[in-house]
Amino acid sequence: TGLVVAMDGPSGSGKSSASRGVARALGLRYLDTGAMYRAITWWMLQQGVDLADPGAIAARALDPVLTLGTDPDAPAVAVDGADAAGPIRTAEVTAAVSAVSAVPEVRRRLVAQQREIIGTGGIVVEGRDIGTVVAPDAAVKIYLTASADARALRRTAELNDTTVEAQRTAMARRDTLDSTRATAPLAKADDAVELDTTALNLEEVIAEILRVIKE
Ligand code: C5P
Repeated sequence: TGLVVAMDGPSGSGKSSASRGVARALGLRYLDTGAMYRAITWWMLQQGVDLADPGAIAARALDPVLTLGTDPDAPAVAVDGADAAGPIRTAEVTAAVSAVSAVPEVRRRLVAQQREIIGTGGIVVEGRDIGTVVAPDAAVKIYLTASADARALRRTAELNDTTVEAQRTAMARRDTLDSTRATAPLAKADDAVELDTTALNLEEVIAEILRVIKE
């Protein structure tokens, strides 16, 4: 079976760019599990589901059909056949996603789909619970971190309608919610290699991960 690389860490740690770069370098597929939680959140917002009510979220958790592309050069996500790549990145979805991802029925459904996509491997998978829950047998597990300042700066540079201060606050809130929820909280797997990217550029992060993979 093929290689599975599990990439976990908080928001803004550089997971997406690093994961895509590693997949590209090794000719592997790429799965962004955060895009799946965002897509289901976008759909719930459109449906008017009360996101303050976990029971309401759970009742609709199986309804939307999610389709994921795994090309690291063109990661695609669609909901009920409609392209969702743009809408899932809005501040509204980002602010709402932690409430949806905390609901066990949502996680159960998405973890099953993630395992189906992983299949026999040959893939880099990024998220919050890949090394701990989705792919505990992954041959390589990386846990990316970076200082709160570095993470807020990076995210601010990616978006064009925000400030470092606003990002720092929003990211701290989301990371607290993601790491304190009852089901599959953000956590470093015991056997993951922790990599602090604060002082590294993207090429250096990718090179370091490739080095870990070759070990
Ligand atoms: O990685 P990204 O920031 O796009 O993830 C969006 C949200 O999806 C996270 O803040 C978290 O609530 C949720 N998530 C998760 N488990 C994953 C990936 C993402 O709970 N494996």
